[in-house]
Amino acid sequence: MSVKGKTAVVTGSNSGIGLGVARELAKAGANVVLNSFTDRDEDHAIAAEIAKEFGVEARYIQADMSKADQCRALIENAGQCDILVNNAGIQHVEPIDTFPTEKWDAIIAINLTSAFHTIAAALPKMRAAGWGRVLNIASAHGLTASPYKSAYVAAKHGIVGMTKTVALETAEEPITCNAVCPGYVLTPLVEAQIPDTMEKYNMSREDVIKKVMLERQPSREFATVEQLGGTVNFLCSDAAKQITGTTISVDGGWTAL
Ligand code: NAD
Repeated sequence: MSVKGKTAVVTGSNSGIGLGVARELAKAGANVVLNSFTDRDEDHAIAAEIAKEFGVEARYIQADMSKADQCRALIENAGQCDILVNNAGIQHVEPIDTFPTEKWDAIIAINLTSAFHTIAAALPKMRAAGWGRVLNIASAHGLTASPYKSAYVAAKHGIVGMTKTVALETAEEPITCNAVCPGYVLTPLVEAQIPDTMEKYNMSREDVIKKVMLERQPSREFATVEQLGGTVNFLCSDAAKQITGTTISVDGGWTAL
């Protein structure tokens, strides 16, 4: 079984890891549904480019992953949903005693609760199709913590826990559920932080990356969105049929420390 002809829904996929994963799935022959809350012309253009480049069907569906009904509507509107990649995520960094309640609520909603709704809506479709793969993009912060990231760490640990439960509920079916745990990945979001940090610490780009950003990543290299897409493709392959309810770290050794 390959992903060719399967339909993959990737939440939060107009940039970064989500887009990289969608592109790798499309490269392997999957039809893809892209998503974000933005609904700009360029979001639809990204889908059109993927369709043209890889000769697959690619669509963009706007849905706000902080809203329960929109999470479920995304899956309904996607039609087929053989592969579900829960990737949408946001971050806020602040000590817990001043951490804004609205930021906590938004992070838990987008990074954790959205996956509850999409999985609940997608499993009946996977069961009807007789095959399914659920991939939750967690984080090294799903397995370990950092200060000032209480909501993010709670949400990512939560999604690792939910991954195990979904795997047990589907264990006797041709459906698997796993979490991918990236370390630092050079997404546009991370790239945008480099110039400011260079200025703040009067450091070269190389020093900012190695001494500030990758301080906890023993490889001292970013993981790439293509590597994450490759990991997702592997978890969709027959070789991964008995891999369920677990985490795969793509973190240059971060969680081995
Ligand atoms: P990114 O900002 O490039 O992508 C986030 C995506 O989520 C975007 O497509 C954005 O449109 C979407 N999104 C945000 N809020 C949304 C909402 N309310 N509804 C729908 N979509 C929404 O960031 P990224 O680095 O690619 O992160 C993607 C995922 O990977 C996140 O879950 C993040 O926690 C995780 N992750 C990233 C890193 C990293 O170093 N970049 C490391 C570990 C885990």
